[in-house]
Amino acid sequence: MIIAVDGPAAAGKGTLTRALAEHYGLPRLDTGVLYRAVAATLLADCLDPADTEVCARVAGTLDLSRFADADLRTSEVSQLASVVSSQPDVRKALLMFQRAFAARPPGAVLDGRDIGTVVCPDADVKLFVTASTEARARRRWLELRQAGTDIDLQSVFENIRDRDERDSSRGTSPMRCADDAHLLDTTEMDIEAAFRAAVSIIDAVWPGTGG
Ligand code: C5P
Repeated sequence: MIIAVDGPAAAGKGTLTRALAEHYGLPRLDTGVLYRAVAATLLADCLDPADTEVCARVAGTLDLSRFADADLRTSEVSQLASVVSSQPDVRKALLMFQRAFAARPPGAVLDGRDIGTVVCPDADVKLFVTASTEARARRRWLELRQAGTDIDLQSVFENIRDRDERDSSRGTSPMRCADDAHLLDTTEMDIEAAFRAAVSIIDAVWPGTGG
């Protein structure tokens, strides 16, 4: 079973897909990590993000073991990931890996921006998880503060708003709710409620898979 989960930045896709992967006994791929690792490599090696050939080469030879998760979550990396992810050759270089991951039995839970539309258009279940920009910014800000990062709410809000704008307006694989995706607006939900809502959608589409 392939579960595709897309949605804007800080919508809670990470927490939700970790819980879904555990519930259904499926491996999980956070595809944002791939784009973040491309950005982190460019920054670490002082490479030019405007050089599309260099970016595509980095994407095609990515070494994910090079970075700790925290190094991939800085706002500098987040912004640059959203800039380089608009390059068609970067997306192409990462596509095969994502499709191969999804194709291995027993399937997978993937989260990103174009999973239901481009990476796995035939996924068994597609969810588009969203929440208001204000709610997402506040959640991400609280997370960052808990992790000891000193950042103001307005900067987090602007970072998220700018990324969403770039991710949904790019020419190649823009972030979009697939026509056959289930929309899950979590503005008024906590993670437990979002998880229950997602499971009830998935179990209705794919009965008998629940743990
Ligand atoms: O999901 P996350 O916020 O970690 O993704 C970081 C960036 O990577 C996004 O802002 C987006 O530009 C890019 N991305 C993408 N397609 C995906 C996953 C992430 O373009 N499937």
